[in-house]
Amino acid sequence: MSTKNVYFFGNKAAEGNGKMRDLLGGKGANLAEMNLIGIPVPPGFTITTEICNAYFQVGKDKVVDMIRNEVESAMKRVEDAVNGPKFGDNKNPLLVSVRSGARASMPGMMDTILNLGLNDDAVETLAAKSGNPRFAWDSYRRFIQMYGDVVLGMKPENKESEDPFEVIIHQVKKNKGVVSDTELEASDLKELVVQFKAAVKQNTGKDFPITAWEQLWGAIMAVFDSWMNDRAILYRKLNKIPADWGTAVNVQAMVFGNMSNTSATGVAFTRDAATGEDIFNGEYLINAQGEDVVAGIRTPQQITLEGSRRWAAMQNISEDDRKAKYPSLEETMPEAFAELNNIQELLENHNHDMQDIEFTIQEGKVWLLQTRNGKRTGAAMVRIANEMLKQGMIDEKTALLRIEPQKLDELLHPVFDPKAIKAAKVVAKGLPASPGAASGQIVFFADEAEEWAEKRHHVILVRIETSPEDLRGMHVAQGILTARGGMTSHAAVVARGMGKCCVSGAGEINIDYKARTIEMRGKTYKEGDWISLNGSTGEVYEGKVNTVDALVSGDFADVMVLADKYTKMDVRTNADTPNDARVARGFGAKGIGLCRTEHMFFEGDRIKAMREMILSKTEKGRRVALQKLLPMQRSDFEGIFEAMDGYGVTIRLLDPPLHEFVPHQLATQKELADDMGLTLDEVVAACHSLEEFNPMLGHRGCRLGNTYPEITEMQARAIIEAAINMQDKGIEVHPEIMVPLVGVVEELKLQAKIINETAEAVFKERGKRIAYKIGTMIEVPRAAVTAGRIAEIAEFFSFGTNDLTQMTYGYSRDDAGKFLKIYQDLGILKNDPFEVLDQEGVGGLMKQAVTAGRQTKPELKVGICGEHGGEPSSVEFCHTLGMNYVSCSPYRVPIARIAAAQAAVK
Ligand code: PEP
Ligand code: MG
Repeated sequence: MSTKNVYFFGNKAAEGNGKMRDLLGGKGANLAEMNLIGIPVPPGFTITTEICNAYFQVGKDKVVDMIRNEVESAMKRVEDAVNGPKFGDNKNPLLVSVRSGARASMPGMMDTILNLGLNDDAVETLAAKSGNPRFAWDSYRRFIQMYGDVVLGMKPENKESEDPFEVIIHQVKKNKGVVSDTELEASDLKELVVQFKAAVKQNTGKDFPITAWEQLWGAIMAVFDSWMNDRAILYRKLNKIPADWGTAVNVQAMVFGNMSNTSATGVAFTRDAATGEDIFNGEYLINAQGEDVVAGIRTPQQITLEGSRRWAAMQNISEDDRKAKYPSLEETMPEAFAELNNIQELLENHNHDMQDIEFTIQEGKVWLLQTRNGKRTGAAMVRIANEMLKQGMIDEKTALLRIEPQKLDELLHPVFDPKAIKAAKVVAKGLPASPGAASGQIVFFADEAEEWAEKRHHVILVRIETSPEDLRGMHVAQGILTARGGMTSHAAVVARGMGKCCVSGAGEINIDYKARTIEMRGKTYKEGDWISLNGSTGEVYEGKVNTVDALVSGDFADVMVLADKYTKMDVRTNADTPNDARVARGFGAKGIGLCRTEHMFFEGDRIKAMREMILSKTEKGRRVALQKLLPMQRSDFEGIFEAMDGYGVTIRLLDPPLHEFVPHQLATQKELADDMGLTLDEVVAACHSLEEFNPMLGHRGCRLGNTYPEITEMQARAIIEAAINMQDKGIEVHPEIMVPLVGVVEELKLQAKIINETAEAVFKERGKRIAYKIGTMIEVPRAAVTAGRIAEIAEFFSFGTNDLTQMTYGYSRDDAGKFLKIYQDLGILKNDPFEVLDQEGVGGLMKQAVTAGRQTKPELKVGICGEHGGEPSSVEFCHTLGMNYVSCSPYRVPIARIAAAQAAVK
């Protein structure tokens, strides 16, 4: 642990710097760095993340002892920096904010306290000094409310009961006959303070703390506590942020955006966080404080004139109205705007990334309160990386590393079918807060969104405004629609971070939570009705609108070309049909790593022939049925070879236990009996005889091909004949026949013999030869351990990490769901090993297999085709093992391509 626990910053000097995020949190590190590059930042200090961890270990009292001296002397330095006001001096009070700031940004998840240091005396001084009693008393009542909610625990936990402070505000407004907070005068706010303090006494049994130091220590500990609040825990879980990182605490001199009409507060992005467009944009409110902009309670105005005009056009607001009611900062405070514009440019150039900044203007003077790399959508991520590369701001490798592979998923999701969208009825329009196409049933509450989603409903969460409490609901919803809030509201920021479609600030809609209805353009929609959202245009449609597949083009395509320049591994796809193969090739797949042939047997009439084969008691009977399947398989393979013209196609022989193919319902059993000329009893008995206690460890994989060689024969024939047929048509074919579930080299040897003999027979019949390869899955631990022997026969290995994980852990793939979640919560497992490859155990076997296999056969081709082949950290691991390729489902191909390139660059 460091010996220094508190880091001062202010007046363009700082003890910390931008590289110290781990210790100072993102906010603290950046506040220090902004000082170092000469940006105006109110002075303050940061208490380290290590102290947060200490707090949870040793408790409040010991922690206060540990840092008291450092905090007191840092506060002295803040007093020197502001030159006059003193902390705790009621005649000239220094007021501070206390804010959280973890290593990774967690927007809105933890707590903040503003205006700390106020009491009954200090507020009078503030009123006199500012010449604005209303401002002073408003600051004081906000402080008591925030402090009461956050530090004194008065915020109600369940959504049914109301915040006691809000109840009081409501009553005072009602008595006065006004609706808006801004209509309350200084005397009303004074009255609020009296009632707020009484509420504190009533709720906590204690008076509201009046000394600044008592207030400060309470606030610091409350911010630490907020690291462990439910929404912070959930956010960390969703974003894989470790709990032991802790949060830092930033104590900073207050500046006031609510001091006068020459004061303002706002949030801005150096580029568009939704689309990535290189345009300065953001929102502000005159005469407002802190969270007013992001909380989505007042509709904020745009910072730039251009942004303001675009916004007005989207809301159907005339230019005259816009100028009168919603002017931009560029118009209202041109000098402050010019300074802010310079600062944003400086910050982006300094950090080489899109910045998300918070600022306050106090009586015309601009102050920066925060800068961080902005959260962005997948589309914005790709565009910003590519454009910064073209602008010379970052190099190719940095551009590649800027892509979060998983986030590409958003770009691969279907988009609205242009034809369907033309015909669809627009029922409302809001702000395009987070792009995407979403259709779902209307729900109004986050917990209900969860319940509906659990029942596999697609839902759109519809809220007047969202708060961090809605996180769970947002996570499971297809999209989010809000009536209030701008592009920087929590709903928008969090939705973009999640890659979730969001339309916010649709002011024209009327939501009635009690009746569970929403009124849009004169029509009432109920809970459960379908609507569709276009997060790129802000349009809301009635009903469900059809979608089509996305395309890889523009910046996305550029980034993919860049990935291919650096990658060492190919990316193939797992595809069972010609259509899947085509889709995957469109996403850049270079071949097929796994074609699961059994999936072809489920279509149409094929299942009948398959069942006939399975239920035949004799080889002859089976051959008759297989003869029916042959042409169907052959034509499927032909389609796949065609789609993958020029690339390798790995086709796996039949793998699953036969019981999966037989009918389980009496009616279908009867039908089958009639078809096969058997009695129902005979069919039922035959089906019954195929039941196994552990089918995944039973009669499956190459055990089928070795006990029923005629199945392998038919499949090998279908593959070779299809290859010859397609080659005759000018297609370049590279068939690779893969044997599943080999554990003993002899199993492979026998299968290879059947395949080779069949191929020779076909060559003879057709009077020509083609090249083909025989290889094996490595998915049984014994195969991994004896890989050296297996490589004597196999020309390639493909790791079937689904089965290899199952058999290495001894966790049934089909049953592990029951305990894996609990195991992760208990910390026994970090991840679900069926999702994220277990590098230590399963990976250890893989490493051994690659080494031994290549010792036997240096040119041995090695790949992976389990689900892990599309998971970024597992792809990186495959790179380190020196594999030739990874194979994954079509929609994960671009993700794997980026992950593979990143592994090479790292
Ligand atoms: C595997 O086991 O990883 C694999 C790809 O095969 P399947 O999932 O079909 O068992
Ligand atoms: Mg398998």
